[in-house]
Amino acid sequence: MLALPVYVPGARPQGAMVEKLSSNENPYPPLPGVLTAVTDAAADLNRYPDMATSELIAALAELHGVETDQVVVGNGSTAVLETILRALCQEGDEVVHAWRSFEAYPIAVAVTGATSVPVPLTPDGRHDVDAMLAAITGRTRAILLCTPNNPTGPVLTQAEVERVLAEAPSDVLVLLDEAYVEFVRDPAVVDSASLLPGHNRLVVLRTFSKAYGLAGLRVGYAVGRARLIAGFRAASTPFGVNALAQVAAVESLRQRDALLDRVDALVVERDRLVAGLRGQGWDVPDAQGNFVWLGVGDRAGVLARAFAEAGLLVRPFAGEGVRISVGDRDACDLVLDVAGEFLAAG
Ligand code: PMP
Repeated sequence: MLALPVYVPGARPQGAMVEKLSSNENPYPPLPGVLTAVTDAAADLNRYPDMATSELIAALAELHGVETDQVVVGNGSTAVLETILRALCQEGDEVVHAWRSFEAYPIAVAVTGATSVPVPLTPDGRHDVDAMLAAITGRTRAILLCTPNNPTGPVLTQAEVERVLAEAPSDVLVLLDEAYVEFVRDPAVVDSASLLPGHNRLVVLRTFSKAYGLAGLRVGYAVGRARLIAGFRAASTPFGVNALAQVAAVESLRQRDALLDRVDALVVERDRLVAGLRGQGWDVPDAQGNFVWLGVGDRAGVLARAFAEAGLLVRPFAGEGVRISVGDRDACDLVLDVAGEFLAAG
């Protein structure tokens, strides 16, 4: 029997492990054109990258229909989030976020000296908007919303985010983390583009790590009001997006349609996986990202071990559940086999 894989961030399958389904990565390699752009750019690695990241920012502004001064980029959206919180918070301040949600949130808040205020999800893995609004105090600087929520899967709706924007005090920044937005098919999902023009304190976080498949290069960004973004840019690490990452991101935006076709294929697999698991009797929350959540509570470790024995590295959350990233068709078939056997074995 294999030892239970203790989760280490960034861990890769070892030995008998055949598939890494633990970090919500894209199972597809970069498109050939993206690889060529990176290889070509590598010839100039003796030079610093474009400090202003002009080409990438221009392409992102065009994609989002905003001005270039409304976009800030960084070394992954986690770094952009850290920059934003550093610019915003000091000791004694508070940041409200859902929990369980993305594990980087409390860490990014702690780095600033501020206090994380985690608000439990509803039983179906959604943000509890009532409780989150009630958790806001005079010290709250930001409320962090994760849609779809990692690791549980459901989105925040337009009505929920509108409510936060209407009811949270006007000096509280509303940060909407849309890391998995391209995988969403729930029509009720918040449409951040419709809200940005009318709401000065709304900031949207995006990443190239998921739908664009560039997790290894580290590119993320935020979109918001120019005055806020100027402050976040000032707090950013100089040359925060390296030269290869800049060209890969620009090329990925050029080839966005091809990348979104891959996302469509992953969504088909995700929906097949969810339907299969539910058919076996699993209670799976609405899965709108490239991952599914099995809320098995105390059995998280045992279930992760069962997957490990079949060569699948998944992500256990002790006492809560197991998150499984959507891989290719074969990987999803194997997930279904293991999950079915686990249920049958009681
Ligand atoms: N937000 C959420 C909700 C995530 O799950 C992740 C990655 N796991 C990120 C942000 C981080 O993305 P990046 O690779 O751009 O730092």
